[in-house]
Amino acid sequence: MIRVGDAATAPDFPEAARRDLGNAQLRRNVRHATDVIRGKRALVVGETDDWQALREAGRRIKAHTLAHLDTYLTAFEENCTRAGGHVHWAADADEANRIVIDIIRSRGESEVIKVKTMTSDETGLNRALEAAGIAPHETDLADLIIQLGHDRPSHIVVPALHRNRAEIRDIFLRGMQLTELGGEPEDLTGAARRFLREKFLRVRVGFSGANFLIADSGGVCVVESEGNARMCLTLPQVLITMAGIEKVVPTLQDLEVFLQLLPRSATGERMNPYNTIWTGVTPGDGPGEFHIILLDNGRTKVLADPHARDTLHCIRCAACLNACPVYRQTGGHAYGSIYSGPIGAILTPQLQGLEHSQSLPYASSLCGACYEVCPVKIDIPEILIHLRRRIVEERGSYLERLAMKGAALTFSDHRWFSRAQTVGRFLQRRFEKDGYVTSAPGPLAAWTRTRDLPAMPAQSFRQWWAARKATA
Ligand code: SF4
Repeated sequence: MIRVGDAATAPDFPEAARRDLGNAQLRRNVRHATDVIRGKRALVVGETDDWQALREAGRRIKAHTLAHLDTYLTAFEENCTRAGGHVHWAADADEANRIVIDIIRSRGESEVIKVKTMTSDETGLNRALEAAGIAPHETDLADLIIQLGHDRPSHIVVPALHRNRAEIRDIFLRGMQLTELGGEPEDLTGAARRFLREKFLRVRVGFSGANFLIADSGGVCVVESEGNARMCLTLPQVLITMAGIEKVVPTLQDLEVFLQLLPRSATGERMNPYNTIWTGVTPGDGPGEFHIILLDNGRTKVLADPHARDTLHCIRCAACLNACPVYRQTGGHAYGSIYSGPIGAILTPQLQGLEHSQSLPYASSLCGACYEVCPVKIDIPEILIHLRRRIVEERGSYLERLAMKGAALTFSDHRWFSRAQTVGRFLQRRFEKDGYVTSAPGPLAAWTRTRDLPAMPAQSFRQWWAARKATA
């Protein structure tokens, strides 16, 4: 079954957003955290002379790879297998989870240490593991906060961004069963380190996602800031990685571009503190057994749509979330998906299906801030509009489709546009007040409930121009 976290059963965005807009603490936390990351990003992007050329290079590499995805995926499979790795293919979330569980069970293990991975949040792996009697231990600091707090991630890069220090201290006190704990950052990170260290040394199975898969060598790349991933990737006997099929790049040299774009866009760093690349297995060095699961879960559907396939260029930096005026107000939970913000608004409906997430493409002001910051130049506003059109075509009411056809006709021919203006001017007389229409009738009433519509000028530009020419 294709699954994107709990997106299939999540409430619509307007309903969930209304709930979260009432949480002043959450809004303060989100605003503060995104302001800090945006400031750092602006600084390190500003000092890069060739930033626009790097963005274009990233876009081109992704577009080329997606156009030849079958070739690069099979090359990755061959090279990874030759290097001693085991490659598994999963059509959907359930199949991917089943493969992970089977590997862990067949080794007689009942625990796994995990590196932060959106892909496993997408498949709902932790829930599946727990149902199978396997204990997953998150080792990324933010994911640990989420796990101990029985919470949901609200940001792609900083999943616990909606929590402040006092809240994290309370979560650690309860979740780690501590009797006392200071509230300074070093107190919290110290507690996490002590809590996790024992697990790093004891648990024999590690699990990770991947930032990039390298086709020409079969290598896998994970970048991180804390060092916990390096522990999970090197200490256990068995390592399992789950990655979306769009994560493949042709060569190691392509990382020259992405390892500049990603850290600058994600955390405002010039380089990630830890960049780990491994290829298969090496006796006496790291895990003795390596499995990689290549996950489809709706991605080939996205690839089949030429107007929306650029969605798969995403390198999950979250710069679009930090820049989005909607996300900055609501935070991530309102999106009902582990992918929130602008990328969530286009990715979730395509993976999960428009019938489940049809409010998400409307969760945007179309201001274009997401496109401006996207390091691989995904034109998110264009894809949002495309998805809105698909929603109306596939699921809209007869009246809505008729209204859209009427609008298309009106805007495509100046004579129809002129007639519509005349009718509009006539109708607005009844509702205009001081140059604004403040309460429209019928189905338009919802629109003017929160907005004032500027009244149409008495004359169109065309009419004004014709009159001017006549009197010249
Ligand atoms: S869409 Fe672009 S900006 Fe947003 S997370 Fe993906 S790569 Fe980053």
